[in-house]
Amino acid sequence: DTPGSIAAMPGDIAVSFEYFPPATSKAENLLARTSQRLSAFAPSFVSMTYGAGGSTRERSLAAIRKLVDEGSAPVAAHLTCVDASRDQVDDMAMQFHASGIRHIVALRGDGGEPGQPFTAHPQGYANAAELVAGLRKLADFEISVAAYPEVHPDAQSAQHDLDNLKRKLDAGATRAITQFFFSADACLRFRDRAVAAGIDAPIVPGILPITNFAQTCKFAGACGAQIPAPMKAVFEGLDDHPETRKAVSIATTAELCRKLYEGGMREFHFYTLNRAEQIEAICHLMGLRVPARVEAAA
Ligand code: FAD
Repeated sequence: DTPGSIAAMPGDIAVSFEYFPPATSKAENLLARTSQRLSAFAPSFVSMTYGAGGSTRERSLAAIRKLVDEGSAPVAAHLTCVDASRDQVDDMAMQFHASGIRHIVALRGDGGEPGQPFTAHPQGYANAAELVAGLRKLADFEISVAAYPEVHPDAQSAQHDLDNLKRKLDAGATRAITQFFFSADACLRFRDRAVAAGIDAPIVPGILPITNFAQTCKFAGACGAQIPAPMKAVFEGLDDHPETRKAVSIATTAELCRKLYEGGMREFHFYTLNRAEQIEAICHLMGLRVPARVEAAA
């Protein structure tokens, strides 16, 4: 009798949450509250991003140690190889290892200026596949890598990009987490193409709830994610209405997740932007429940 498809979501999913290193003590407190609230969903892991070229190296390490100390979920450290020698990257990986990290999200990173082509460091790993192979030799890390449902802007073609993903998995990665996207069909088609190419590692959709639509459009343009016309239409006129925008974002993101669920996806990685509110609502709509105890404390 219940109208709408959201009600049908049974919550038989696994979630993971991505955070970025906070820059101020206020931001640190926000992250601590967010991670405490989201830990109620028993994430399979939480991850901490890494500034390209090590620009947030110390902050990443400090934030990672905090998450490890919290102990509420296994922690994955992102690690990029741009602008660093192999020795520097390996050293960072071993510092993560010494801090208790056993899962690395291995990434190439991007060049300094937006739009500038990536150039490998002369003594560095040339790309993420080489980084994965290097990490495998260093320690027994679980390794996740990036995937691009709408094709990485540097790729010669969709097939080249898929071949590159396969190289990263063949080098020892065991999971692909996707760039954010707003078309469920694009992601499901990509998953199908990956399976047809013999990829059997999980492809975990990266979900970005929108906070600032104009900014998201700009960011999406830079990384090749399309904004479907119906989505533009639902956010139209909301630039000065943050509360309504948030509610609309929860509805559209939950709808995206529901379509992915219907397409067979059961793992979801959330780009939290260090905020809990929207993600909590989306997870709830997907059938996960916050224990009453935690909700009362938040
Ligand atoms: P790669 O897999 O090396 O590929 C990049 C491009 O180069 C692809 O188009 C590929 O096809 C092409 N390519 C690679 N090798 C070859 C080859 N041998 N021949 C021809 N073409 C090749 N960035 C950060 O700075 N910090 C983060 O913490 C971070 N976290 C991220 C998390 C996720 C889940 C995702 C999806 C992205 C993240 N990024 C992060 C962004 C990432 O660094 C960029 O997208 C970067 O441009 C590519 O990284 P990659 O690991 O996918 O690179």
